[in-house]
Amino acid sequence: MRLLLIGGGHSHAIALSLIRKNYLNKVNITIISDTPLSPYSGILPAYVAGYYSPQDLFIPIKKIAESKGINFILDKVIDINPEQKYVICHSGNKITFDILSIDIGSTPDKSTIKGANLYSIPAKPVLSFLDKWKKITDYYQVSKNQSLTLNIIGGGAGGVELALNIHKKLTSIMTSDNININLIHRGEKILENHNQWVSYKLTDILQAKKINLFLNSEVNAINQTEIILKTGKKISGNHHILVTQASAPLWLKNNPINTDKTGFILIKNTLQTTNYNYIFASGDIATLRENPHPKAGVFAVRQGKPLLKNLFRFIENKPLKPYFPPRNYLNIIGTGNESAVASWSYLGWESPLLWYFKNYLDLRFMNKFKH
Ligand SMILES: Cc1cc2nc3c(=O)[nH]c(=O)nc-3n(C[C@H](O)[C@H](O)[C@H](O)COP(=O)(O)OP(=O)(O)OC[C@H]3O[C@@H](n4cnc5c(N)ncnc54)[C@H](O)[C@@H]3O)c2cc1C
Repeated sequence: MRLLLIGGGHSHAIALSLIRKNYLNKVNITIISDTPLSPYSGILPAYVAGYYSPQDLFIPIKKIAESKGINFILDKVIDINPEQKYVICHSGNKITFDILSIDIGSTPDKSTIKGANLYSIPAKPVLSFLDKWKKITDYYQVSKNQSLTLNIIGGGAGGVELALNIHKKLTSIMTSDNININLIHRGEKILENHNQWVSYKLTDILQAKKINLFLNSEVNAINQTEIILKTGKKISGNHHILVTQASAPLWLKNNPINTDKTGFILIKNTLQTTNYNYIFASGDIATLRENPHPKAGVFAVRQGKPLLKNLFRFIENKPLKPYFPPRNYLNIIGTGNESAVASWSYLGWESPLLWYFKNYLDLRFMNKFKH
């Protein structure tokens, strides 16, 4: 029996960390990941601000797999043949499977913005984002007296937290007068998936840091030096960072695996796809048909353990157990100044204590992957 995992996302990282050596008596496991180090989303904004080192940010997925006797293949899957049971990799290799599990995450949507492919810096894939971010900070570290205008597109939790932490980093390397950050959002208010208090509080915090907020501003096109809104208004900038809503890879569109309207894989509560019981999916790439929820790392993390259990129940021909996502989840948004805002259902709170609590939770999570 061959179990193939594609993507080293949060669910697969948890699943791999829980695999015991005796599991391999029943099945041969391989993971294909396009990176040996998977970034942990909870730490990403604070890493950008300079609070963490690379060791804190990255889950050593290759090392974990190999320490458990699991084959690790460094490659990118570019298509799946679910009927013939094989995946095609970027290298041209075809890898066959009996059971497949997909945890390949999502990337900010570029499809509706002309020029985004050429002129934007998407927050994901994280490695490519960090590479470009380093070039920007290296440049301004030595050219402190030059002015920088940075456009950040997307006012969800990821975009707002990134804007605040980018502000923190830039103010630590150059004079404030030379920094101009614009946060551009198509909605009437930022963090529309959160309660009103959280949205207002973070609006105040952005304004206090002189981050310019452009609301009701849908981006139509990007070129090297400016962003053009649907209204025709232009916003100039040296760099344009994209943290727009999550999107799935295009190759899934023409694939027989069932997807939702936005291209994400439709799954049942057992984490199996709705039309192939031997193909599982989890994390951002999956949409739970019966209980859809926002795309967030907390869900990907929580699916790790039930995913592993159901994969092995399937292998052993045992009945699978349903997974139900939490109705409310705690979101702690770091504000880049050693403080944070918590959002939980209709409740919100801002405090430096939350920053320490978030640090504690994130580092405790990352400790799971240290040997
Ligand atoms: C700036 C920012 C901040 C965020 N902060 C938070 C937060 O604080 N809390 C929170 O809950 N969520 C946060 N999110 C959302 C969070 O990043 C995602 O929900 C989470 O990463 C999803 O996890 P995942 O397991 O689905 O995939 P990912 O973590 O994206 O992992 C997918 C992995 O698969 C690999 N991969 C992708 N495609 C392929 C392929 N074709 N073949 C092989 N490998 C592949 C990728 O390289 C990656 O390692 C944030 C997002 C952003 C952009």
